[in-house]
Amino acid sequence: MVSHAGLRDSSMPDLHHKLLPRVSPKHAPNVLVLGGTTEAGALAQALAASGIRACYSYAGRVQTPRPQPLPTRVGGFGGVAGLVRYLADERITHLIDATHPFAARMSANAIVAARQAGVPLIALTRPAWTAQAGDRWQTVADMPSAVAALGGAPRRVLLALGRMHLAEFAAQPQHHYVLRLVDPPAAPIPLPDHHVVVDRGPFDVAGDLALLQRHRIELVVSKNAGGEGASAKLAAARQLGVPVLMVQRPVLPARTEVHEVAAVLAWLGHGATLGVARGV
Ligand code: NAP
Repeated sequence: MVSHAGLRDSSMPDLHHKLLPRVSPKHAPNVLVLGGTTEAGALAQALAASGIRACYSYAGRVQTPRPQPLPTRVGGFGGVAGLVRYLADERITHLIDATHPFAARMSANAIVAARQAGVPLIALTRPAWTAQAGDRWQTVADMPSAVAALGGAPRRVLLALGRMHLAEFAAQPQHHYVLRLVDPPAAPIPLPDHHVVVDRGPFDVAGDLALLQRHRIELVVSKNAGGEGASAKLAAARQLGVPVLMVQRPVLPARTEVHEVAAVLAWLGHGATLGVARGV
């Protein structure tokens, strides 16, 4: 590991000044990664390749989570108190929140627990998507607003939201809903007119064009997740002139946030020595 002074001399001086946690170099990091995203997987690869001690945490929402090159735990911690206990019991030195931008409860808990436990926290997030020329987006603040915006005549709607919010759309039962889900539904879907497509990203534009055309989709409902893996539906909608109802991200308390795996490694004091490319 390089010294902190060495890091300040490296290629990202401003970032290091701002982000480097005050941890003695003689104490090797022991990292907890809150995961469940493509970015968390990339971070896990980099941590494993760097030989940094780390554990990857899944909520346990999908039946077969992707294997990670790190020791993995599955399931909630039991709120803030449970996470504080876990951080202490496992002697975690650094907490990395690489959860989905809509996993607001986990992210909020991580901020409070990290503060209580005295463990430095950084969030690895992806920038939000922004509308491009040709996009026909209507932006709404949250899921209830998306449901309200669906009032009116029946349409053929792609709900690309995962399974967590489906029940809310029962308030607009007039539409034909196409649902793209990671796992086959375990419980009945509370929407009278629906079709389930079981598929897991990353998705490509050709596939999503075919999906929208096959189901004659007239409206796409999407969370503003950002990133590459789920953006194909937006490109497909653009090409076909299909409108998108874009749900904004939940607002979180202030926290240190970066978009690059390399920046996380730098924060851990490892970026400069290991030659990790930016944007891994
Ligand atoms: P959430 O509402 O913020 O979290 C609810 C509870 O699930 C948390 O309070 C925590 O339980 C547990 N949890 C969440 N993420 C965890 C993690 N990585 N490790 C251990 N426990 C976790 O989260 P969500 O929206 O249900 O998302 C769950 C997971 O799916 C997240 O890890 C996220 O990265 C991934 N994911 C979410 C979305 C989405 O659209 N929301 C999309 C793709 C992937 P305790 O309070 O008991 O600790």
